Amino acid sequence: MGIMKFAPEALKNLFKKPVTTTYPAEPAVYPERSRGHVAIDVDGCISCGICQLSCPLGAIKVDKKEGTWDIDRFDCIACGYCVEKCPKKCLSMVSGYQEPGREKYEDKFRRSAEAMAAEAEKKKQAALKAAAAKKALAEKKAREEAEAKAKAESNAEAKAETDGEKKTAE
Ligand code: SF4
Ligand code: SF4
Repeated sequence: MGIMKFAPEALKNLFKKPVTTTYPAEPAVYPERSRGHVAIDVDGCISCGICQLSCPLGAIKVDKKEGTWDIDRFDCIACGYCVEKCPKKCLSMVSGYQEPGREKYEDKFRRSAEAMAAEAEKKKQAALKAAAAKKALAEKKAREEAEAKAKAESNAEAKAETDGEKKTAE
């Protein structure tokens, strides 16, 4: 009874190609959404370090001053937290796995000089804008204080005049 159940499947498989492949001779085809490894568009990175803080394995190192982003692929478990947390969306999880190796090493990425210069300029402009806003606020405050002082003096003068007139009438 059991044989009769499996016989059609067994016969079908006799004429099918093997489902296994000859990897690595034949390149692997990964499913579209497989979590292979983390990729970075390094020029989109602002070195905020959120990925480094969110990595449970401590596999990422961010150096803001140097503009570098390093990952130890041997420590990475492809959980995708860093990809989820990146505020600039410059990290992504792509297919294709880490090549095996005898020694651990880090993959290093460095932001281009143009990207670093553009960010420095952006920061400079933001600092100038903040300084101008601070100056305008201080000027406004000084103006308001001067106006309040002038008003108080004028009120005091008016009161003194009124008091003087009352005394003369008495
Ligand atoms: S995928 Fe997970 S383990 Fe790998 S670097 Fe990102 S946060 Fe760390
Ligand atoms: S979270 Fe994104 S922007 Fe921030 S350091 Fe990591 S990769 Fe760069």
